[in-house]
Amino acid sequence: MIRSCLLLTASLIALAPPALAQQPAPNPPAGPTTGTRPRPTPLPGAVDPKVAALRDKALADDTAYELVEALTTEIGPRPTGGSARQAAARDWSVARLKAMGFKNVRIEPYTLQNVWERGAETAEIVGPNAQPLRLAALGNSGATPAAGLTAPVVYFASLNDLLLAPEGSLRGKIAFVSNSMQPTQDGSSYGSAGAARFVGPNVAAKKGAAAIVIRSIGTDHGRGPHAGGTNFDAGVAPIPAAALSVADAENLERLMKAGRPVQMKLVLTPRFVGARPSGNVVAEVPGSDKDAGIVLIGGHLDSWDLGTGAIDDGAWIAITAAAAKLVMDAGRPRRTIRVVWFGDEEIGGLGGEAYAKAHAGERHATASESDFGADRVWRVETNFAAPAKAIGDRLAVALQPLGIVRGTGTAGDGTDIAPIVRTGVAGVDLNQSGLRYFDYHHTPEDTLDRIDPVQLKQNVAAWTTMLQVVANAPEEIGAVAPRP
Ligand code: ZN
Ligand code: ZN
Repeated sequence: MIRSCLLLTASLIALAPPALAQQPAPNPPAGPTTGTRPRPTPLPGAVDPKVAALRDKALADDTAYELVEALTTEIGPRPTGGSARQAAARDWSVARLKAMGFKNVRIEPYTLQNVWERGAETAEIVGPNAQPLRLAALGNSGATPAAGLTAPVVYFASLNDLLLAPEGSLRGKIAFVSNSMQPTQDGSSYGSAGAARFVGPNVAAKKGAAAIVIRSIGTDHGRGPHAGGTNFDAGVAPIPAAALSVADAENLERLMKAGRPVQMKLVLTPRFVGARPSGNVVAEVPGSDKDAGIVLIGGHLDSWDLGTGAIDDGAWIAITAAAAKLVMDAGRPRRTIRVVWFGDEEIGGLGGEAYAKAHAGERHATASESDFGADRVWRVETNFAAPAKAIGDRLAVALQPLGIVRGTGTAGDGTDIAPIVRTGVAGVDLNQSGLRYFDYHHTPEDTLDRIDPVQLKQNVAAWTTMLQVVANAPEEIGAVAPRP
């Protein structure tokens, strides 16, 4: 924390106009200190009045809420995997983006190879403690026989415990992995707790398990299961794999800890349905300098099927369009702003891969993505190469009134932009607070009422500021060291 404060101060000093820079820095105020050192007081930096005016205008702009309201109400769930509702969402998007005045609005088609589709899904404990359990199959899960599978349950408190299970010890059994997840502002707990979903089924399959159920990767205590994808290694036959709601997982855990032998009947009948057409939606604000590179902002149009995809990722669909329109209406930017609403992120970022393939060789100045709900942006991170570093400084200062701090991580996060970022394109990240996100992520509760309109506007203001600063920056934005 102290380190990041010092870095921020150094960058602000570099930004201060000469008259200010020659003045002695004000003495740190008396009062609260961190450790033995007083907190440094940042110097003021100059913010372009046009940037400040646009930022403040965005705070009163209702466009994003109207868009996400219309998307979730008129289209609703947009299941990943080239579904008919995702196709309807693409058509809806093209009509909306054209009506908003964007140029070069189009669908860029691609083909999905072997699409997974949800089937029937029920679970119950059988025997003396018989009761139903709520769950959702994980994307790419295998299927049980149509009549179901009944088997003893083996409990693992964590993925690590499952990894330690002897080979062959799970033959004919249902593995149950029950690691819990705590909320974190930066969402880092999703990476650690989520491994149970990302790789747990593959591990259990290799150890011979008949099926696996996991505690939902979520921070709520409700009965809505959290869907999500998983993957099996080539050559590993997918086993039935599902997420129990957190409440049901805790119930099952109590029974197992009490030493009761538990049998579960599981019915999961998803299937692989072969190839399907799908696509990305692209819209542009053409820039005046075609050699300056494209400023790419994107989110994903598909959603899991249990809710209406409001926070994941309808909010971001709405934020990108609202922010780009505010900048478009303020005058032609130097760089072309390209808004991409990717398809099929949820099952492995397939729209992002298709975009990178279709646009290989095209010059992108920056790439940004948000896929983390609609709560307030709290941090900005950039990774510009040295000649463009001042852009990040100006952006950080312009974002300060929105309560956004500067981070020191490597920018360029996001599944959809990852294939482009890997080619050495600079990233600009605006991170949203994840403290509520995993209460609703991939659940039936991901609906419009989870979006706070005031926080949504703060997002629009942050992204409008970013676009105005970066798309109009006079510096050349070159390639950076590619992220792994
Ligand atoms: Zn998402
Ligand atoms: Zn998602």
